[in-house]
Amino acid sequence: MHLKRLEIFGFKSFADKTNLEFKNGITAIVGPNGSGKSNVSDAIKWVLGEQKIKTLRGSKMEDVIFSGTEARKPLGVAEVSLIIDNHSGSFPIEYSEISVTRRLYRSGESEYYINKSPCRLKDVLDLFADTGLGKEGYSIIGQGKIDHIVSSNSQERRLLIEEAAGIVKFKNRKLESQRK
Ligand code: ATP
Ligand code: MG
Repeated sequence: MHLKRLEIFGFKSFADKTNLEFKNGITAIVGPNGSGKSNVSDAIKWVLGEQKIKTLRGSKMEDVIFSGTEARKPLGVAEVSLIIDNHSGSFPIEYSEISVTRRLYRSGESEYYINKSPCRLKDVLDLFADTGLGKEGYSIIGQGKIDHIVSSNSQERRLLIEEAAGIVKFKNRKLESQRK
């Protein structure tokens, strides 16, 4: 599985459409404090379906939409797309490239797409469950996450291990069927 590209528009400090291409190997993003490095990883978490605004370092979901500067008006919508190479077949979906898009309007309306087809948040969460990339995954290690893992209790640590073992999908399905 390989992250090919991240397309950001109107998300946090990215007022202009910004495409970040990730080649094979390691990509490092460097820049002065406040230049938007963490906003890139926030964009990845967000498009993967993160609902906890605290994790995205805001206080309400609207905070992810570009809020304007002295020189620029605020925008009315934030959109992030993540394009993943699926030649390895890591995702059980018959496409060699998968795109996931999330869009949020200031009105509060939100949309999700997989390969440009509208879908539910649940479909995005299902797609990424057990891939290690999901929002509860261990692929995105934010500032302070290592501390959190080291000091987490056994239940929290179990969740991480379950995600790595690939059984979260089945656990979610079990919970769902019990609710019905
Ligand atoms: P550091 O090196 O300190 O970790 P960083 O490069 O990770 O910095 P970020 O935290 O990604 O920086 O970016 C912070 C910047 O993003 C701030 O200047 C903040 O004003 C801007 N920002 C955050 N949300 C929005 C928003 N909704 N609209 C416009 N700008 C925003
Ligand atoms: Mg940062």
